[in-house]
Amino acid sequence: MNISDSERAITILETMGYKPASKQNEADLILINACSVRGSAIDRIHGMMPAFKILKEKNKKLKLVLTGCLLKVDRKKFEENFDYILDIKDLPRWPHLLGIRNQESGIRDYLKIKPKYTDEKIVYIPISNGCDNFCTYCAVPYTRDRLKCRSHKDVLSEVKSVIKNGAREIWLLGQNVNDYKSPADSSIKFPKLLKLVNNIPGDFIIKFTSPHPKNFSKELIKIMASCKKIAHYLNLPMQSGDNKILKAMNRPYTAQQYKTLVKKIRRAIPDIKLSTDVIVGFPGETKKQFENTLKLFKELNFDMGYIARFSPRPGTLAAKMKDDVSPKEKARRWNIINTILLKKWSRRK
Ligand code: SF4
Repeated sequence: MNISDSERAITILETMGYKPASKQNEADLILINACSVRGSAIDRIHGMMPAFKILKEKNKKLKLVLTGCLLKVDRKKFEENFDYILDIKDLPRWPHLLGIRNQESGIRDYLKIKPKYTDEKIVYIPISNGCDNFCTYCAVPYTRDRLKCRSHKDVLSEVKSVIKNGAREIWLLGQNVNDYKSPADSSIKFPKLLKLVNNIPGDFIIKFTSPHPKNFSKELIKIMASCKKIAHYLNLPMQSGDNKILKAMNRPYTAQQYKTLVKKIRRAIPDIKLSTDVIVGFPGETKKQFENTLKLFKELNFDMGYIARFSPRPGTLAAKMKDDVSPKEKARRWNIINTILLKKWSRRK
């Protein structure tokens, strides 16, 4: 989603007369598109500040601009380091906010801005923005706000236009694609949208991210299995294999329900490549509860996994819980799952 946001930001910067610089020290404007989802991403921006300070001393014209998924607390921390902190949803007003133009563009919805695609073959197309799910560890409902879906007409017209320009892989993006409902026609939910994209003529494949296991419908499985252009690849975030931890995460499914869903998907699409997301060291996660995650992870034999160590994001419910798994223990749990993945890949080579 951040790539897609950056592509729209590039369009706006270009309308202001900016062109890409080949080196940082040649730039008159540096835009950082932040992500507050993990503490480590915010720490990386802090790490860049000394270098930016030197650049600013050398180039008095240099503007430092921060945008992206930012929690209030992170935004506050950066106030003195950046010249501007701008919301991505205010993109149409950036020229005005940056003092380049008095007039506002008149565009109200930032998703209406035509993006400057960084890759013409693999194109990321948002179908919604924000999230209503409030998983307790996640900053997205606070940084991106509540769910707002894009009209299916806008999505289809963007897909048609990129296909015409040679795109071969389309990624439909949403924080939970399964919550999608077109504001232009409430009968068009995610499975139907996928079918409509699949019906667009052309030689391309469709991927999407992320689907929530809680509302992964039979209809979606059927459409994935029957539509030729939909890739047999799926990232299905599991997060934990322990029911108590899933409950504490506000993930409304059990380990058994997740397992049943995976089985149904594999039965319908036998050659599907499955990946998952797991958080280790969530507050209160005992060794036994981690073992439950490990057991399910091994049993489901994922092709790929994205394993994160829990880091509290201020303002979320999980940040109020006791972060009682030590960094060393989080690293141990993280290593155990990653070793399984590494062994799997080395056997494949
Ligand atoms: S569904 Fe995804 S984006 Fe939404 S709150 Fe949960 S983890 Fe965050």
